Amino acid sequence: MGASLDTLDRKSGLGLHWKILIGMAIGALTGIACNLMVRGQGPEAIAKLKWFADTFTFPIGNLFLRLIFMVVVPLVFCALTLGVAEIGDVRKLGRLGMRTLVMTLIFSTASVLIGLTLANVLQPGNLITQESREALKEQYAEDASKSIKSASKAKSITDTILDIIPKNPLQEAVGALDGSSPGSGMLGVMFFSLCFGIALTVIPSDRSEPVLEVLRGVYETVMVIISAAMKLAPIGVAALVFSISAVLGLQFFVALSGYVVAVLTGLSIHMLVVYSLAVWLIAGRNPIAFFKDIIEVILTAFATSSSNATLPTSLRVVEEKLKLDPKVGRFVLTIGSTANQNGTALYEGMTVLFLAQVFGQNLDLTQQLTVVLLSVLAGIGTAGVPGGSLPLVVLVLQTIDVPAEGIGIIMGVDRLLDMSRTTVNVVGDVAIAACVDGWEHQHQPN
Ligand code: ASP
Repeated sequence: MGASLDTLDRKSGLGLHWKILIGMAIGALTGIACNLMVRGQGPEAIAKLKWFADTFTFPIGNLFLRLIFMVVVPLVFCALTLGVAEIGDVRKLGRLGMRTLVMTLIFSTASVLIGLTLANVLQPGNLITQESREALKEQYAEDASKSIKSASKAKSITDTILDIIPKNPLQEAVGALDGSSPGSGMLGVMFFSLCFGIALTVIPSDRSEPVLEVLRGVYETVMVIISAAMKLAPIGVAALVFSISAVLGLQFFVALSGYVVAVLTGLSIHMLVVYSLAVWLIAGRNPIAFFKDIIEVILTAFATSSSNATLPTSLRVVEEKLKLDPKVGRFVLTIGSTANQNGTALYEGMTVLFLAQVFGQNLDLTQQLTVVLLSVLAGIGTAGVPGGSLPLVVLVLQTIDVPAEGIGIIMGVDRLLDMSRTTVNVVGDVAIAACVDGWEHQHQPN
């Protein structure tokens, strides 16, 4: 599949990641400049700028995201089925699966603990004034009620676990990206793909090979569509970042700066310390070289706010740059794009604690442990799409009796935090893939 995946912007000289970075900078600077310009001209001018962003730039940004989302479901099915079927040996598969799961749980727990420690030490909720709290809540009341509505569909833990086995994988696939699946959405699709891949290893190879050949063909075709879509990434990213910064400006960040800084600090610690240590100690790689190699993944995750939309880039980069075994890469990254969301887990824990502080509620140790457990589980169950974790934040808030409408307070800065936590989510998937691959090669040189 090398040639088709290798096509990204070789001819123009400038690497795709540079173009994305430039797009991001242009979008942010022009957006903030426009916001500052209209801010002094009254509410009408602000409304006009918002209209311009909603009508023109946001759709342009969404164009490239949609092209990628369009092929996420077939990509997940093919990548995972092929990953599993090509590994072949069920024992090896069990070993890879176990290692991926254990690392996911360790990474997620570490991230939530980092988040909660910071929230307890920095107390960002006590920095926000009563006035800003009311203003923010009012501004985002509508968005907050949407999240609360989708959270009210939430099920018990038993049903959540049972739902991993889909009654109808096609129905799960249909709603996988907008949260309208009756069961567990993408997790259900993954479960079906795993079963399908394992079953393919059991039947005689003269029957399984043609199926695998078709899947390889579909996989390559999907990757070509994604390569083409990624060419639009620099423009799409500029448009998306413009829309966000033009509407938000800087004022939300000032009101919520304590919270934003606390979450960003937590995410940075997790990414730079925990992942670096894992990559160095388990995968035996130099962390600096690791981060340099995956810069395109980092920028794509940051720009798209979506683990699923970043999956194609991570699949390509781990193969081309990190030189991981493609079978291991496909298996770990595909599962990770939905099930391993450390950044999200950290963000959920911190947000719940922050909002509890804002409402003057002191969570005792048991409640904080509940937050840890729920955030780790929520990280596994969150859809890898922009804002995928918001309904789950509402759920955790409701469980520990913090007013769920409080989510309106943080809505304004959510996109920036979404971009940042998605980056940590995806780097976590790549780090696990590197560790699992390192383990395989150190201990099972076959
Ligand atoms: N946007 C995140 C992701 O795709 C999910 C979330 O935390 O909202 O990984």
